[in-house]
Amino acid sequence: MSRFWSAVTHKLTPYVPGEQPRHKRLIKLNTNESPVEPSPRVLEAIAATSGDMLRRYPDPESVALRESLARRFGLAPSQVFVGNGSDEVLAHAFLGLLQHPKPILFPDITYSFYPVWAGLYGIEFERVPLDEDFRVDVADYQRPNGGIILPNPNAPTGVLLSLAEIRQLLEANRDSVVVVDEAYIDFGGESAAALIPEFDNLLVVHTLSKSRALAGLRVGYALGQDELIEGLSRVKNCFNSYPLDVVAQRAAVASIEDEAWFQAGCQAVVDNREWLQQALAGLGFRCLPSAANFVFASHPERNAADLFQALREQGIVVRYFDKPRINQYLRISIGSREDCEALIEALQALL
Ligand code: PMP
Repeated sequence: MSRFWSAVTHKLTPYVPGEQPRHKRLIKLNTNESPVEPSPRVLEAIAATSGDMLRRYPDPESVALRESLARRFGLAPSQVFVGNGSDEVLAHAFLGLLQHPKPILFPDITYSFYPVWAGLYGIEFERVPLDEDFRVDVADYQRPNGGIILPNPNAPTGVLLSLAEIRQLLEANRDSVVVVDEAYIDFGGESAAALIPEFDNLLVVHTLSKSRALAGLRVGYALGQDELIEGLSRVKNCFNSYPLDVVAQRAAVASIEDEAWFQAGCQAVVDNREWLQQALAGLGFRCLPSAANFVFASHPERNAADLFQALREQGIVVRYFDKPRINQYLRISIGSREDCEALIEALQALL
C-alpha cells in the first residue's frame, strides 16, 4: 500500500457498483436501470440546448428544475434540493443532517451505500435487523435526537412499508431526522412526500435514475421542510459541490413535465415484474413481495452463487450478495420483456 494513502481510506470498505458492459453484449439485469427509454421530450430538450447555453455556467441554484419539482409535489421551491444523482444528495444528508453524537439507525439489510458513507464521515451507526419475512418493523426504530435512514421500498429486498408505517416512524421520532430514500417508490409505493407539511423531521430522497430512465444523466433530489433543505444547501456550499450541468437541468425539467410518459413507463415495468415473478415461481423460485423495479428471488434447491455464475457465463448479469442471510438470493432487475424471457429460458436450461 502506498505510504501516501490516508489512514482513513485504508480502513474503508468501498461501495461496489454493479458491473457495466465493456465489450460483449450483456443482458444487464444487475443495476436496476430502466428498460424503457426516457421521455422523447428529454431528448428534444437535450438537442435544443444551444451553443450559447453551453458557453455559460449552469444556474447554480437549478431554479427551473426546483420549481418544476415543487409544482409536482405541491411544495415550495425552497423545499426542494437537487444533486448529481441521489447518491450525492444522500452523501450530503450523511455529511450534514445525520451527524449525531448517537449512532444513527438503518436496517441491517439495506442499500450498501449507507455504511460506506457513515464510515467515510466517521458516523457511528447501528443496524436494526429485519424481521423473519425481511420486513422493516418500524417499532424497532426509536432514536430521540438522532438520525434514521431507510430506503422504501428497501434495497435489495424490494419490500415496501405503507405510508401509515412511515407516519408511525415519524411520530415516534419527532426529534430525529428521518431520511426516507424513495429511489424505487414509483413502482408500487405511496410517497412520504405527502407527509412533509406535517413533519419537519422528514427528508424524502428521489432519483431520476430508475422510474424516469435517466441513470446516465445523474439527477436526484430531496424534499423536506425549509430547515432541512437549508441544511443540505449549507453542506453543498461548504464542500463546493458541483451544480447540475446545463444539459442535466434542462433534460430533468422535460422529464418531470411529461407525466403521461412517466406513468406509462412505470406501468410497463410493473407489468414485466408481474410476468417475471410468475415465471420465476413456475421454476420453483421464491420471490419476496416486490414494490420495486427488481425482484429478490431464491431457489430452494439451487445455490445462488452458482446460478449467478452460470448466468454470467451466458451473458446475463444479475446481482448476487455474498452476505449472511441474503446469500441464497439473486436480485434481478426488471428488464424488457425480451430480456426477462431470455433470463427465464436460461434458468430453465440450468435447473
Ligand atoms: N438509493 C438506493 C436505495 C439505490 O438503490 C440507488 C441506486 N443504486 C440510489 C439511491 C442511487 O441512485 P442514483 O445515484 O442513481 O440517483
